[in-house]
Order: sequence, then C-alpha cells, then structure tokens
Amino acid sequence: MPLVTMGPMLKRAQSALYGIAAFNMIDYNSVRAIIQGAAELDAPIIVQVSTKTIRFWGFKPIADWVRSLAETVQVPVALHLDHCSDLEIIKGCIAAGWTSVMFDGSSLPFRENLARSRQAYDIAMSAGVGLEAEIGAIGGVEDDKFVAEDASILADFDECVKFCAAMPELAVFAPAIGTAHGFYAGEPKIAYPLLERITGAVDIPIALHGGTGLSEEQFHRCIAAGCAKVNISTMHKHRFIEGFLGWREQKPRESEPLPFIQAQYEAMKADVRDMIRIFGSEGRAAHASGKD
Ligand SMILES: [Zn+2]
Repeated sequence: MPLVTMGPMLKRAQSALYGIAAFNMIDYNSVRAIIQGAAELDAPIIVQVSTKTIRFWGFKPIADWVRSLAETVQVPVALHLDHCSDLEIIKGCIAAGWTSVMFDGSSLPFRENLARSRQAYDIAMSAGVGLEAEIGAIGGVEDDKFVAEDASILADFDECVKFCAAMPELAVFAPAIGTAHGFYAGEPKIAYPLLERITGAVDIPIALHGGTGLSEEQFHRCIAAGCAKVNISTMHKHRFIEGFLGWREQKPRESEPLPFIQAQYEAMKADVRDMIRIFGSEGRAAHASGKD
C-alpha cells in the first residue's frame, strides 16, 4: 500500500481500544523487520525516525526504504518523524514524503511550546500530514536531551486541554504521564488518573512514549485509557545489536555477512510481532484503514 497518515488510523485504534506500535527504525534491515513483522500479523504500523537517524542517512534513503517496503504489503504503514524541535527538519521530512511529524517543544515554557507547536501544526496541516506534539517532560534520553527520571515533569491537565483546543486536528498528543525513554532503573510510575482525565476531556489519540520495559498489564491499562500510539525504541535497538552479535556466538566460524543480517532481522521482527500482539493490533489492518 502507499504510505498513510497516522491520524485517522489512530482515531480508529483509540475508539476500538487497541494500540498501534511505532518503532524507531535504524537502517534498511530494521525497516524490513518492522514492516514485515506487521504484515505477517495483518497489523497497522508506524515506522518512526529520530533526527539523529535522519542526520546519519539523509531524508531520501529513509523515505525510499519505507515507501518501497510499504508498497509490498497490504497493511497501512505511516512514516513518522520522532521528537524534533527543528522546523527545518520537519519541513525536510514533509518534502521527502513523511506522512507525519512530531514537534517536541516540551522543554520550552508552556506559552512558547504552544506557539511553536502551533507553527508546526500550520506547516503540517497545509501539507496534509499529521502532527504529534508534547507537553511535560518524558524522562530519559531522547536524542541529545536527557531528562532524569525522578525529575520528569508530568503534564499539567489544564495546559493539556488548552494545548489541544488550539490544535483540534492534532494526529496524536503526547502528555508526559510518568513513562521514560530507555530502560527503566526502577518501577515505572504511570499517572493513570491524569491519563484518564486527559482522555476524558480531549478528543485526540494519545501517544505512549517510553514503551520499552513496561509490563503487559501496564500496556493494556494505558491502551484501555486511550493510548493509541505506543512507541518502542530502546528494545528495537537492543535487538538490532544483540541479534547480530548473537549469531557470532552461535556460529563462531561464520564468514558470510548475510546470515548475520538475517539473524538480526529475525531478532527485531520477533519483538515487533510480540509488541503487536500485546497491543491488540493483530488482524486490525482493515479496521485501521477504515475498511472494516
Ligand atoms: Zn519519546
């Protein structure tokens, strides 16, 4: 299928209480694992890209990989830009064929975050792509920014309402609800009452950041409360490295590179499939596309 924008499919996912997995791609093999894993389970999927990864590969190769692989499968695939505070990169993604982008102004004071997010919103709306925007500080490392877990700031409810009212066509909203990027040092403390209050007041699907390391029960509770986009980055990176190195341990004398790449692919794809099953999006490709 041609690439799709994520807003409509996230709205359908939210109303039917399943989550759509959003994996941070690394290279061609990783995109292959994400899209094939979703296709095998007939699930909608989001391939998202960090600005660091765009700086490494460039806009066009990434867009070409994702578009060409998406065209070989029958499930909806969205190409999304993860955490970005640079409007020029956002414009570059849109020009290269991304179908949604995230503007992250969460480190700014509320008024400034809203003003800059609104600028990104206007750019995205006029290009017909979806926008994700964030309030509060999600803990851990996101690209160059580090937020200590204990210092992570929960989103303020009144600000969430005001923020979303200013951008009613937001594809997905990311309020900080206590999750963090990276592996959790302790038990993640998710602010479920805040999440429920937000979804009760705001008619926009919610993004759950910092998915790596949450329990099945935590995923289910967040998805039941309105989290329709579930981000997985750290575990995917881990599988990328361990899948490759694990083949060296199994076959110490292997001298052909392709089996390493295949082992890496299988390791990443297994995690993609596990997450899709946990998020309840298996068999939901037609539903997410609005054909069911
Ligand atoms: Zn994030």
